[in-house]
Amino acid sequence: MSFPDLLDLHPKLGEGIRGKLTANQPLSAVTWFRTGGPAQLLFQPADEADLSAFLNKLPKDIPVLPVGLGSNLLIRDGGLEGVVIRLSARGFGAIEEIGNNRLRAGAAVPDKRLAEAAAKAGLGGFAFYTGIPGGLGGALRMNAGAHGTETCERMVELIAIDRDGNRHVLKNEDMGYAYRHSDASKDLIFTSAVFEGLPQDEETIRREMADVVAHRERAQPIREKTGGSTFKNPPGTSAWKEVDAAGCRGLTIGGAQMSEMHCNFMINTGEATGHDLELLGETVRARVLKHSGIRLEWEIKRLGQFGAEGAIEPFLGEEKGAA
Ligand SMILES: Cc1cc2nc3c(=O)[nH]c(=O)nc-3n(C[C@H](O)[C@H](O)[C@H](O)COP(=O)(O)OP(=O)(O)OC[C@H]3O[C@@H](n4cnc5c(N)ncnc54)[C@H](O)[C@@H]3O)c2cc1C
Repeated sequence: MSFPDLLDLHPKLGEGIRGKLTANQPLSAVTWFRTGGPAQLLFQPADEADLSAFLNKLPKDIPVLPVGLGSNLLIRDGGLEGVVIRLSARGFGAIEEIGNNRLRAGAAVPDKRLAEAAAKAGLGGFAFYTGIPGGLGGALRMNAGAHGTETCERMVELIAIDRDGNRHVLKNEDMGYAYRHSDASKDLIFTSAVFEGLPQDEETIRREMADVVAHRERAQPIREKTGGSTFKNPPGTSAWKEVDAAGCRGLTIGGAQMSEMHCNFMINTGEATGHDLELLGETVRARVLKHSGIRLEWEIKRLGQFGAEGAIEPFLGEEKGAA
């Protein structure tokens, strides 16, 4: 499966651009699941000015999607039409201490690196990031959180570039944060953010970080090809409990499996396609709905076009018949 080359269709698109443009780049290379079709065009901007210049001249009818480290993405087998933007570590990977218990960090910084920098700076409140394998762009979009702390508790303000290439400063209160969600316009690409911690001694912080790592090793299949928690926790219960109660622990479709170790984690056991993974997820949703009446919501973002195996209906189309 491949798309028409956007650089052939719009020959001026690459003029003056310093970053990297790749047509039909397989996205399986940039997602934790290691599945998914190509991006019609992948753009890795050199820096913020390069990103703005590119967006400014990109025809407005071409869709744009930012991706981070791909740890929360299920890309469908038919790939993504339009431009996928991935911020490079070189242009967006800096961290600096700016005083008042604050750090400024680029959106391509892995969460773990921010936790490390905060520990060195004697700033508490970032240890939870040690266990989240994404980058800060994804954390800011998803309001990533763990062990009782969420991104929205640390983030002060961020820089974002809109679809026309304009630069904006968004304050915490502009982000419309909720559980694993932000209301900020889907058009925005976050490029850096300011985070604030609380003064704490480095030894205590490092103990907390070690506890986070130990918990992950014990409780989650972190060495597998996975997307983390598949479903959001429904009000008053945990997604894994509902998946387990509906008999879906270990459920396997093709190369996709609900992990035996943590049954809200979906894993690619080797040769899973995007279709296998999404079909498994919808099968679990249908079974949980039938078993407990709960409509699980995906936490993993599913993006792109269905492939040759065709579309998969939410709840396998069974929700109308369920209680
Ligand atoms: C083993 C494992 C454990 C996990 N544990 C946790 C956990 O404890 N808590 C938790 O919250 N999550 C967890 N996750 C999920 C995931 O790591 C987080 O959601 C993470 O914040 C996603 O970051 P990413 O860089 O991988 O983003 P991606 O998966 O690449 O993208 C996620 C979303 O963010 C958007 N996005 C990415 N970059 C930008 C940007 N620069 N500007 C605007 N939007 C952007 C994308 O468009 C997409 O909508 C886990 C995942 C795995 C694989």
